Amino acid sequence: MNYDVIIIGAGPGGIFSAYELAKKSDLKVAVFETGHPLEKRKCPIDGKKIKTCIGCKPCSIMNGFGGAGAFSDGKYNITNDFGGTLYEYIGKEKALELMNYVDEINVKYGGAGTAMYSTAGTSLKKICMQNKLNLLSASVRHLGTDINYVVLENLYNELKELVEFRFDTPVEKLERNEDGTYTVYAKGEAYTCEKCIISVGRSGSKWLETVCTDMQIPTKSNRVDIGVRVEIPAAIFSHITDELYESKIVYRTEKFEDNVRTFCMNPHGIVVNENTNGIITVNGHSFEDPERKTDNTNFALLVSKHFSEPFKDSNGYGESIARLSNMLGGGVIVQRFGDLERGRRSTEKRIAECTTRPTLAATPGDLSLVLPKRILDGIIEMIHALDKIAPGTANDDTLLYGVEVKFYNMEVDVDSRLETRYPGLFVIGDGSGVTHSLSHASASGVYVADEIIGL
Ligand SMILES: Cc1cc2nc3c(=O)[nH]c(=O)nc-3n(C[C@H](O)[C@H](O)[C@H](O)COP(=O)(O)OP(=O)(O)OC[C@H]3O[C@@H](n4cnc5c(N)ncnc54)[C@H](O)[C@@H]3O)c2cc1C
Repeated sequence: MNYDVIIIGAGPGGIFSAYELAKKSDLKVAVFETGHPLEKRKCPIDGKKIKTCIGCKPCSIMNGFGGAGAFSDGKYNITNDFGGTLYEYIGKEKALELMNYVDEINVKYGGAGTAMYSTAGTSLKKICMQNKLNLLSASVRHLGTDINYVVLENLYNELKELVEFRFDTPVEKLERNEDGTYTVYAKGEAYTCEKCIISVGRSGSKWLETVCTDMQIPTKSNRVDIGVRVEIPAAIFSHITDELYESKIVYRTEKFEDNVRTFCMNPHGIVVNENTNGIITVNGHSFEDPERKTDNTNFALLVSKHFSEPFKDSNGYGESIARLSNMLGGGVIVQRFGDLERGRRSTEKRIAECTTRPTLAATPGDLSLVLPKRILDGIIEMIHALDKIAPGTANDDTLLYGVEVKFYNMEVDVDSRLETRYPGLFVIGDGSGVTHSLSHASASGVYVADEIIGL
């Protein structure tokens, strides 16, 4: 046996499994990772010479130590209300306990001094309710992109002495051997292990799909969330973001009774490109460092789409919409809310005259040519609903970037140990379809490691 445990993927799920195994057992552990070590992860977009995504392989935003979370805003939401359905497998209390445990580790490894926000006791809940909006309950630790990086750096420096990291080593194939052990194939070599934890995130979804098909591990199709990223002057939302930092607000549309929700709020942040399997979508983050704060706040407005028979490919649907925006805009499209409502495209001139200064160089265009009417109508209704609790949200100069798509991995059939039908083969994090966030993915990593150690 080469290793007791092989972890595939060094995102938050894989890192926290490695951390727990390293700290609480003598097991020989290796982590295989497609991407680079943290210090070598550099996205070439500099806004000058390289303005948009050039499709690096591997993508430094999505792959490498820290996974998709490495350059994220580092918002660790401690809640069962959103961010995944881990609690359905391990229970609500355990899920919260593990998210708090992860928070303690983040604080210990560099996050001390960062703020923890909470919706408990806020008067905003009532104001939201009075305006047909539902503010979800959560506590959130905001590390910020910079401190998040420091935490990852500190964790790596400690773990590299205890765990073998194999970077730039994508796992190509996984096999179960007759004696119940596993063989992992990467870079033309074979490595064996007693137990295997798959934590490949969203970027590994296609690969994981082939593993599940080959090994006949049942899966279920999941949802896809489609929408836009809204960018407004920070002052408009400051009474909300100063108190809560991130608020998850849900609105039920009058027209179609669809749920539209805010997602990933970044006060004084920037809007960025995201590359998922070659498709350019939009995302956002912000820095803790006051020097790097902008005058804008951004957040996503998303509508969930679930499909029933006969269509199952919800990710394929989201991908087609994102491809359409890539086809029309060469990447992400930006449009003024006023232009959208007037049924006209935004142009370079209109964006140049806009009082909200865009933080991402995107192509001015028309989102109504990209987003399905039902989704677009829902987003417009939600912007007007938000305008009641944050006047100015529905201003003509509010910027909308599209499209933002949240792809969810198909849900892999795992039991209450997050173990597949094969003993010793675990699937965790966003790759499992069970989690969709830093805190849930990390908690699932700790949970499985504890199951393996027998704690
Ligand atoms: C820009 C951005 C901002 C975000 N902001 C937030 C936020 O503020 N709060 C929040 O909760 N969530 C945020 N998210 C989501 C969050 O990053 C993910 O939920 C989280 O990283 C999931 O962790 P994971 O370990 O499951 O997967 P990932 O972080 O995706 O890690 C999976 C790792 O597996 C590797 N891998 C894939 N396939 C293979 C293979 N075959 N062999 C070897 N390695 C492989 C990948 O390279 C990757 O490094 C953000 C995401 C992005 C992209």
